[in-house]
Amino acid sequence: LRTMAKSKFEYVRNFEVDDTCLRNCWIVVRLDGRNFHKFAEQHSFTKPNDDRALNLMTRCAQAVMEELEDIVIAYGQSDEYSFVFQKKSNWFKRRARFAEQHSFTKPNDDRALNLMTRCAQAVMEELEDIVIAYGQSDEYSFVFQKKSNWFKRRASKFMTHVASQFASSYVFYWKDYFQDQTLLYPPGFDGRVILYPSNQNLRDYLSWRQADCHINNLFNTVFWNLVQKGGLTTSQAEEKLRGTLSGDKNEILFSEFNINYNNEPLIHRKGTALVWKKIDEITTKTIKLTNEEKEKEIVVTRTRKKVTALHCDLIGEEFWEEHSEILED
Ligand code: ATP
Ligand code: ATP
Ligand code: MG
Ligand code: MG
Ligand code: MG
Ligand code: MG
Ligand code: MG
Repeated sequence: LRTMAKSKFEYVRNFEVDDTCLRNCWIVVRLDGRNFHKFAEQHSFTKPNDDRALNLMTRCAQAVMEELEDIVIAYGQSDEYSFVFQKKSNWFKRRARFAEQHSFTKPNDDRALNLMTRCAQAVMEELEDIVIAYGQSDEYSFVFQKKSNWFKRRASKFMTHVASQFASSYVFYWKDYFQDQTLLYPPGFDGRVILYPSNQNLRDYLSWRQADCHINNLFNTVFWNLVQKGGLTTSQAEEKLRGTLSGDKNEILFSEFNINYNNEPLIHRKGTALVWKKIDEITTKTIKLTNEEKEKEIVVTRTRKKVTALHCDLIGEEFWEEHSEILED
């Protein structure tokens, strides 16, 4: 449909390994609540069994069975659920497009982008050892510290904790960004774990995603201007853009809509990088002096790490010089 320019960073895709499940085997996926001992306590679950919690788990499992294909049985107890996929499953069903159904504005819905970033921030704060995250469109990539020993480096733990934390955050924070617009059905996110052995491979991976962001956003910006302001139908716009190079697209934007692409918002052109930033927090602390009744207020400065969003170039050297700690061991 679209003639996509391929960036020189494409090669990093070859680091994705084939994780096809062995034929003729039952595929079982077991989910288990992360740190639910604490979750149950903080949400005052009745002991030993909170039926509200059990019923909610079952409602979620039911949604999973309805949303995904080929699950033949699910079994739940406590904070866990096991899903058994048909032996001959060849699953991948496509649901009606989420963006369309929720009337995302085109080409970029900032509510959706900012919600994605809020979720990614929650993931970084909740989970361990994430040094940088990069997001664009409906995707986010999370890079873990090279020497992380989180869950003894089990790939499935990394993937499921990130995906589920992200998905639940999306629902949790939805109304902060979409106000009274109703979330129509439970959204889901797929994930994959990819290992990049060298710093260069990792940088090329992020460059690849950012190049993808640029290529898609340039296309979408012209496309939707042609439709929204130029009065073309979507198929006429497709037709007009077929085979065009980025220079042509810049030219259409400028001559027909007086838009200089370079002045479009950075968040749309560059995507979003989340990094840890050290900040000095000044707080007052009340301390009780031993052997005395008196309380004393003291001023303490402590360094805290905070997740910060950046919309900048990741391809050149500048970012990596400025944030050299990311690639440090
Ligand atoms: P991990 O992240 O390793 O799974 P966890 O805290 O979730 O840690 P689990 O072994 O999974 O530990 O135990 C789940 C905990 O959640 C139990 O301690 C149980 O008390 C609590 N819990 C889960 N569901 C319910 C429920 N329906 N009613 C009461 N308590 C519950
Ligand atoms: P898959 O499940 O294979 O990923 P998909 O429908 O999610 O299928 P993608 O290639 O991931 O397909 O494309 C995401 C789609 O979501 C794009 O078509 C884009 O139009 C839409 N989209 C995502 N984020 C936004 C946003 N912030 N504003 C507008 N549209 C968005
Ligand atoms: Mg457990
Ligand atoms: Mg648990
Ligand atoms: Mg459990
Ligand atoms: Mg998608
Ligand atoms: Mg996508």
